[in-house]
Amino acid sequence: MATMRSNLGIMKILHLKKRGCFLLKLLCLVALVLIFCEFLIYYVVIFQCHWPEVKIEAHRSSKQSSASVLKAMFLSDTHLLGEIKGHWLDKLRREWQMERAFQTALSLLVPDIVFILGDVFDEGKWSFSQAWADDVRRFQKMFRHPVCTELMVVVGNHDIGFHYEMTAYKLKRFAKVFNFTSGKLITRKGVNFVMVNSVALEGDGCTICSRAEAKLMKLSHKLNCSQQQEENHSKKRCSDVEQLPASEPILLQHYPLYRRNDAECAGEDSALPEEKNIPFKEKYDVLSREASQKLLWWFHPRLILSGHTHSACEVLHNGKIPEISVPSFSWRNRNNPSFIMGSITPTNFSLYKCFLPLESRVVTIYCIAGALLGVLILAHLQLLSPPFYFAQHLIRKHKAV
Ligand SMILES: [Zn+2]
Repeated sequence: MATMRSNLGIMKILHLKKRGCFLLKLLCLVALVLIFCEFLIYYVVIFQCHWPEVKIEAHRSSKQSSASVLKAMFLSDTHLLGEIKGHWLDKLRREWQMERAFQTALSLLVPDIVFILGDVFDEGKWSFSQAWADDVRRFQKMFRHPVCTELMVVVGNHDIGFHYEMTAYKLKRFAKVFNFTSGKLITRKGVNFVMVNSVALEGDGCTICSRAEAKLMKLSHKLNCSQQQEENHSKKRCSDVEQLPASEPILLQHYPLYRRNDAECAGEDSALPEEKNIPFKEKYDVLSREASQKLLWWFHPRLILSGHTHSACEVLHNGKIPEISVPSFSWRNRNNPSFIMGSITPTNFSLYKCFLPLESRVVTIYCIAGALLGVLILAHLQLLSPPFYFAQHLIRKHKAV
């Protein structure tokens, strides 16, 4: 009797041990899938991106030249959700994805400077001060960066509203965080960037618009002076102007320059075929023809980068000036977000598009892992007989007959 009891005890312990071991295996599987989908996948995918090669002037030594190439990263339309339209789960998921993608890109690619081309927030156009402060706090956490990398932000219509809902108050609070209002010129490693408040290019003479135009004209004068240093008449006109590197600027703005539609845009992340032929509305989807002409005339840019459409496109203005539409960085707006990596010198540039992990791929991995987990649990509970045991069971039955 005593032997039987002790045998039963041993069997019970063995059974518990087996169950514990099984649970541990399941936990490990869940942890592995989570770590891969939430951390490692960003490293695996972004590791494949690289800074493009750029032609460097022959007279520079190789050591000098590699140091003189500016590594700039451009992303757009992050649309951090607000308290009104944002569901907490959507917010949590998409903001985590953007934070991981940005932080991984920073650690692997180490850019000198990052530009965000507007629509940083989704509800900056109508949020009250408390919600605005909360959005800004989350932005600063997600897009934190080391001192060796600068972060510059251009204003978009979702940050301060379309022209008719834009107010001095909204622009001021944006400026307080991002130090940007009408326009800004920054020069790094001899490369000039002009950041434009494209929402204020309505051309109707409103106070904010007039200020923006005046600022841009001033910047244009400064740049023109730096390019015409040798000419006598310009020497006089430019005597009180700060000297800049004589390099054609790169224009950065939220709205694209005027184009009829996206019909000419190609690539896997361009607009959907059914959307490509829909005409763009001036001052809403793209800048007006007049404002676009003014920008081209004022700055003679060598490259333009813009956001707003959430899809990719490459257009040539006046047959020679390329404009790149940078797609949205958020999985909320597309399955295949990306950012642009630019190797830039005062005379040349070379661009490369770095795609983030596909959201659908992450979801597929979770689904496969979930199904595998279900099968393992069912098999453990012996509700799902493996084919071998099933056959064995059949043979035994046959013999008995
Ligand atoms: Zn926009």
